[in-house]
Amino acid sequence: MSRVALVTGGTRGIGAAISTALKNAGYKVAANFAGNEEKAKAFEAETGIPVFKWDVSNYQACVDGIASVEAAIGPVEVLVNNAGITRDAMFHKMTPEQWGEVVNTNLTGLFNMTHPVWTGMRDRSFGRVINISSINGQKGQMGQANYSAAKAGDLGFTKALAQEGAAKGITVNAICPGYIGTEMVRAIPEKVLNERIIPQIPVGRLGEPEEIARCVVFLASDDAGFITGSTISANGGQFFV
Ligand code: NDP
Repeated sequence: MSRVALVTGGTRGIGAAISTALKNAGYKVAANFAGNEEKAKAFEAETGIPVFKWDVSNYQACVDGIASVEAAIGPVEVLVNNAGITRDAMFHKMTPEQWGEVVNTNLTGLFNMTHPVWTGMRDRSFGRVINISSINGQKGQMGQANYSAAKAGDLGFTKALAQEGAAKGITVNAICPGYIGTEMVRAIPEKVLNERIIPQIPVGRLGEPEEIARCVVFLASDDAGFITGSTISANGGQFFV
């Protein structure tokens, strides 16, 4: 029987590639999104993957949203915490709102999403939690104190939870993408992208969302059962931990 996978922020960018790759690998997939209804509905129509709207920074919304996914397609066995935002500013100009929005979505969102599915995974003695962190959580990035802190927090969360889940058949891993050609990165001015960012990537190009999606499909598989607490860096050679 095919397993059930839930992808947060699964309707655009890297998340859309992950939802699609999991579906193609035989999973029953649900994709969550925050507010871009038009894009989500177009994705649903194109792929046949059902979409569900809620805000991962709101715990009760996650509890309710997960309940509606489980009523529709069954208990969540694979959770991909992909939803993320940026609110960049140099630290001396960063507002408490910019700090709070990024930490609440990119870090607390992982608690909000994983906590409601965790007991079910423990009871069924199987689970896969895959957290999409970032190269900038590994190395830090100027203008992103909020994002770097949240994404580094995702890695600590991954390692702690991996130890808790191991005896219950649950693996918890993280992927740290480098610069991937999605709307988030295309929003960076082209001059900055071409003159400052791409020259720092040894393979000489942005990554493709599908290159991250293939890592997720592997980590979700039975073949990856001995891998837990790990971080896969997929960054074109830009940074080694
Ligand atoms: P996009 O901006 O293209 O897509 C973000 C997705 O997350 C959208 O589906 C969006 O929904 C959803 N989302 C945002 N906030 C929330 C929320 N509060 N609740 C629910 N869903 C939400 O992002 P990317 O595909 O570029 O990034 C995906 C992940 O990968 C993020 O965690 C990002 O930090 C990480 N990453 C990306 C890199 C890159 O180069 N692109 C590099 C390293 C890491 P909606 O469409 O409704 O707005």
